Amino acid sequence: MAVAPTPTRNPLQKAMAKMGLVRDIDFALHLPLRYEDETRIVRLADAREGQWAQIEATVTASEVSLRQRRQLLVTVDDGTDTCTLRFFSYYPAQQKAWQPGARVRARGELKGGFLGWTMMHPTVHAAAGPLPTALTPVYPTVAGLPQAYLRKAVQGGLARAELSETVAVGDAVPPHAALAWPLREALQFLHHPAPAVSLQTLEDHSHPAWQRLKIEELLAQQISQLQARRARDALAAPALPGRAGGLHARLMAALPFRLTAAQQRVGAEIAQDLARPQPMHRLLQGDVGSGKTVVAALAAALCIDSGRQCALMAPTEILAEQHFRKLIGWLEPLGITTAWLTGSQKTRERRAMLALIASGEAALVVGTHAMIQDKVQFSNLALTVIDEQHRFGVAQRLALRDKMAEAGLEPHLLMMTATPIPRTLAMSYYADLEVSTIDELPPGRTPIVTRLVNAARRDEVVERIRGQLSQGRQVYWVCPLIEESEALDLSNATATHEALQAALPGVEVGLLHSRMPVADKKAVMAQFVQGAMGVLVSTTVIEVGVDVPNASLMVIEHAERFGLSQLHQLRGRVGRGAAASACVLLYATGDAPRLGETARARLRAMVETQDGFEIARRDLEIRGPGEFLGARQSGAALLRFADLATDADLLAWAREAAPVLLDRHPALAQRHVARWFGTRTEYLKA
Ligand code: ADP
Ligand code: MG
Repeated sequence: MAVAPTPTRNPLQKAMAKMGLVRDIDFALHLPLRYEDETRIVRLADAREGQWAQIEATVTASEVSLRQRRQLLVTVDDGTDTCTLRFFSYYPAQQKAWQPGARVRARGELKGGFLGWTMMHPTVHAAAGPLPTALTPVYPTVAGLPQAYLRKAVQGGLARAELSETVAVGDAVPPHAALAWPLREALQFLHHPAPAVSLQTLEDHSHPAWQRLKIEELLAQQISQLQARRARDALAAPALPGRAGGLHARLMAALPFRLTAAQQRVGAEIAQDLARPQPMHRLLQGDVGSGKTVVAALAAALCIDSGRQCALMAPTEILAEQHFRKLIGWLEPLGITTAWLTGSQKTRERRAMLALIASGEAALVVGTHAMIQDKVQFSNLALTVIDEQHRFGVAQRLALRDKMAEAGLEPHLLMMTATPIPRTLAMSYYADLEVSTIDELPPGRTPIVTRLVNAARRDEVVERIRGQLSQGRQVYWVCPLIEESEALDLSNATATHEALQAALPGVEVGLLHSRMPVADKKAVMAQFVQGAMGVLVSTTVIEVGVDVPNASLMVIEHAERFGLSQLHQLRGRVGRGAAASACVLLYATGDAPRLGETARARLRAMVETQDGFEIARRDLEIRGPGEFLGARQSGAALLRFADLATDADLLAWAREAAPVLLDRHPALAQRHVARWFGTRTEYLKA
């Protein structure tokens, strides 16, 4: 019977609650960091120098020495040799207990010295009762929460926790060796393993008891995602089947290029979703420059063909404006009105736009998150497209979904990202999402040569810039965004800007940074896009989502400070035209003799590959899933035990088992999810 936890002032319980230890199951799943072997006694005569050992001996002397530092020296004898236990801090009660004649067990590191064996600050118990038969767990804890107290709490939680089996014999789930251990036994074992166990298999989590735990966790994750998916499938959306000879067909015919095979394939996947009366929930991933915008435009055309509105939201004004220009370029000649919404808009213009949107005259609305404000009312929204979805929070994505006017209907949702998600991550964290992938770049792109250059050799880089400019090409120079210090950030960029102006007389060198008014930013961008500016120095890396095919050189200053996917996205700004392009990664080691391990791994990846999927795989390897997914701000419960890099087979099993269990034992499946994630079931909802 569940009892609501009573509020408590007990500081120990508070400390445990802070660690997420509240329910019995939380304690049961709080697994040891490592183990201590107190099951054996080592004879001093057999001991080795430096050995961690437990001895059992009788106290022969106890004195407080004031030599150098005040310390308690307890001499013990186990019949084979003597050992001195040394304590610089101790309680009076301990001193009293360790008097000559007392029988004790002491555990610590044995040091042999001139005066015989010593142990510094060993753990000492009275030698009462039999030796434990299992290894002693050492739990992750926090300051002020003693190990002994936590051990008892875990023991109690484990004994009380409801650990009924979710997977029963005879269930139509595929067999798996990891299911051989019942859950309760697996947990009991992990808390108190038999001394004979290989510590290696406990540490690397390959022991069958660990496998059992991980398969349970993955199962909970897959069930929970399946539930989210089914909940969405139960919702209704307007079907958008398109129309023969409609806008979609006319746009296809009018495009100045042929779609790549990959664009055609993902376009068909999206069209199939849109034709159904359930909301689409699809992620479109494709490397930088793979041509996602036109795929979004074609989806919008299908929506408009059914007489409904489409909204496209981008994370920054410059990105949104770039989409806007591209889309009106394609759609206006076909008679479509597109509205534009952004935070920096003048009131009059904004009012006019709001009217266009509310009346339905604007079939397409492009903008920033300004479009999720209350005042914005759509006439009949049916499709929302979110570019660079990971840069929006859950709330923002949900707000756009709520813009649908008709009660009981949801809009279709297409999310786009240039940061591909490695397959195992997609199968696990994004299991409730359909994924379409553009795995091919439009023809005619030239590979980008990437070079690492020490910042001390900037002069050579300036020389390179001259070379590009003389061929009529343009150059980006990106400075890092140092979030802690916008001032430093700015001075870095302005200094670079000045230096380049001085080094390149007669060349227009522009500067773009985050503190500039939007109008100035736009003016600078426009100059660069038109080719009137040779070099663009920029700090606002996130806004360099622009498309200037004539740019052929990207210089990234302090490249060691950027994340891997960010570097890759920046590099993708060049190599968009026919000219051979290059990316120079300028790095500085600062006061250190060389770059740190992870910085080197990132830069090496950049030089070695240009494939966005390979980059994503390495990024995941370097950062781990927690950080990799961090930007999603989705509150998704991260896996605690399973490791997607090593547990792909467990994940595959969980994917197959989840629907079987949810269909056959819905209550059990629900309990299983609650057991694992408790209140943390905030999965991807948008
Ligand atoms: P991203 O996927 O990074 O958003 P864009 O949609 O901005 O890429 O496309 C990059 C450039 O490639 C644009 O100039 C776009 O018009 C062009 N493009 C897209 N598809 C094709 C194609 N099939 N053939 C030639 N150029 C294309
Ligand atoms: Mg794009």
